[in-house]
Amino acid sequence: MSVEVLAARQIAKKVGSQRFRRRVGCGCLVAVGLPLMCVGLVLIGIVGGAQMVLGGFDEAEGLASASPTAGAGGTITADVSYDPDGSTFVDRGGSANAWGGYANGVIPTSELCALSMAPSLRARCDAAQALDRMSAAYAAQFGEPIKVTDAYRDFAGQQSAKASWCARGKCNMAATPGTSNHGWALAFDLGEGINSYDTAPYAWMKNHGSEFGFFHPTWAEPGHKDYAKSEPWHWQYLPDADPSKP
Ligand SMILES: [Zn+2]
Repeated sequence: MSVEVLAARQIAKKVGSQRFRRRVGCGCLVAVGLPLMCVGLVLIGIVGGAQMVLGGFDEAEGLASASPTAGAGGTITADVSYDPDGSTFVDRGGSANAWGGYANGVIPTSELCALSMAPSLRARCDAAQALDRMSAAYAAQFGEPIKVTDAYRDFAGQQSAKASWCARGKCNMAATPGTSNHGWALAFDLGEGINSYDTAPYAWMKNHGSEFGFFHPTWAEPGHKDYAKSEPWHWQYLPDADPSKP
């Protein structure tokens, strides 16, 4: 059985965020168990997302087919399906993650905020604030804040990342410049154990990330067959799924 089918089943079993319910107008999710209509809606979304992944991802953290053009501003909406436990979401990548009319990697500094735990790194301000809230909860458990190793990556930064990986003979570990998920200022690479599967910090993220709007893309899950690089450290902020937002 394919990873996508397994993922679809897993997510179909779990999908149920308030906002997702509202978005698809699927009030029946309130009922105990998932009525068939809801399962159908969810599966349509998951299969669509999986196809995007199959057809699009051939570079780490980016869509080769994505054009670095502006998208409708502000949100990730019907383009993502996520599971409220935070295990995964299907990332359609590319302009599906665009906001504010900006192109990938060319977001004005005025739209970004420095991260409190890593002031040299920046992200969209609501994402940085959500990260602070999550890091505080994480620190209550582990005694130290979440370590962030990368956040917003501008176009020049994407070019250097590509060059750096290529110099090590691993070109496929970096996205084609202009297509990186990090170019939208909503993606983070996390350390301190989160960067490894089967650790308590990683498990904490799986259990609690969604409480702050952070999700792990299916393409970064271990052993994703169509995307050879598993990336436990890579997490993305979905503004529409942040429970603290109205
Ligand atoms: Zn990343």
